[in-house]
Amino acid sequence: MKNEGNLIEPTGSGLSCPEAHFFIDPWCPVKKAVITHAHADHARPGCVSYLATPECACLLKARLGPDITVQELSYGEGLNLDGVRLSLHPAGHILGPAQVRLERNGEVWVVTGDFKRHPDPTCKPFEPLRCHNLVTESTFGLPVFTWPDPLQVVADINSWRRKNKDQGMTSVGVSQKLVTRALARSRKEARLRGVEGLMLKRLSSPYGIGRRRGDWWKWKVDPLSVDAVLTYAQRGHGKRSGLYTDYTFSVWDGDRLVPFAKAYSGLTDAEVREVDRFIRGHTLERFGPVRSVKPELVFEIAFEDIRRSARHRSGVAVRFPRISRWRTDKTIAEADRLETIAGLIFGGTQSKKADVG
Ligand SMILES: [Zn+2]
Repeated sequence: MKNEGNLIEPTGSGLSCPEAHFFIDPWCPVKKAVITHAHADHARPGCVSYLATPECACLLKARLGPDITVQELSYGEGLNLDGVRLSLHPAGHILGPAQVRLERNGEVWVVTGDFKRHPDPTCKPFEPLRCHNLVTESTFGLPVFTWPDPLQVVADINSWRRKNKDQGMTSVGVSQKLVTRALARSRKEARLRGVEGLMLKRLSSPYGIGRRRGDWWKWKVDPLSVDAVLTYAQRGHGKRSGLYTDYTFSVWDGDRLVPFAKAYSGLTDAEVREVDRFIRGHTLERFGPVRSVKPELVFEIAFEDIRRSARHRSGVAVRFPRISRWRTDKTIAEADRLETIAGLIFGGTQSKKADVG
């Protein structure tokens, strides 16, 4: 075997075969793209030409538009590209998925794309290939991904559907509920994965650049929230410049209240005026424009995310804090504690509050 450099190289546009001038599942528009399968993270628009199995080609046309140029290559059929023999082989993933096998002077490389070894009635079973170098998809090889036996899941859904039918019920509305619940769970897990939420798209919405209103919808995780005590206030700007509207909220650290977040928005005009009156009547100290206030009022503060921070006295920093309501029903003894809040940093599900909604 001659040493002629790698048949497959990672590049800024994805996996490339420099010798034969094509890319496999490129993430940028390129001249020639070999597509392993038609899922959105593998088949992207804008390439001059595509090469895929006939089944995958149909899906590509449905997804990327009927006018794309696709060369079809059936499983096992060979194609010579600049001295590299390319063939596609079943990957058992979805309709028409392919492992890409490349051979040059007896040296074999295989790129699996997504693959599955479970039986799947929608596609041919995964074909193990002998090779010198294997480039494998490994996303779902992480131990956190464990799935129930698909046949069991199918049997469960079928028996549930039959039960509905026997009771004279249609499964359609319930299926929608099932899907919604699965999505809702996925949204809840988003925080654990450290992402903002889920993206939902209309079937007809294109995979484009930027975001047009109505095409895609960002379904964010529920905000986190804590109950905190108003401890400092400062006068606002603009139309509220005569009122104390910029607040600092604190939570308990032992028997001390430590500042935790600043928030400006969220109260009604009437509430703002009432809080302003309270601040003027209960000022403890003045530091320039800032007043410290007798700790008495409790507010629920919502925020998007929380992280450790050495720059903040509380040791945590929150994103987009805002007042979600005035807890007139709570005393300051019932405000949250710093250790509860620190518990929100990982996942948030340990907290009573983060589970609400
Ligand atoms: Zn896939």
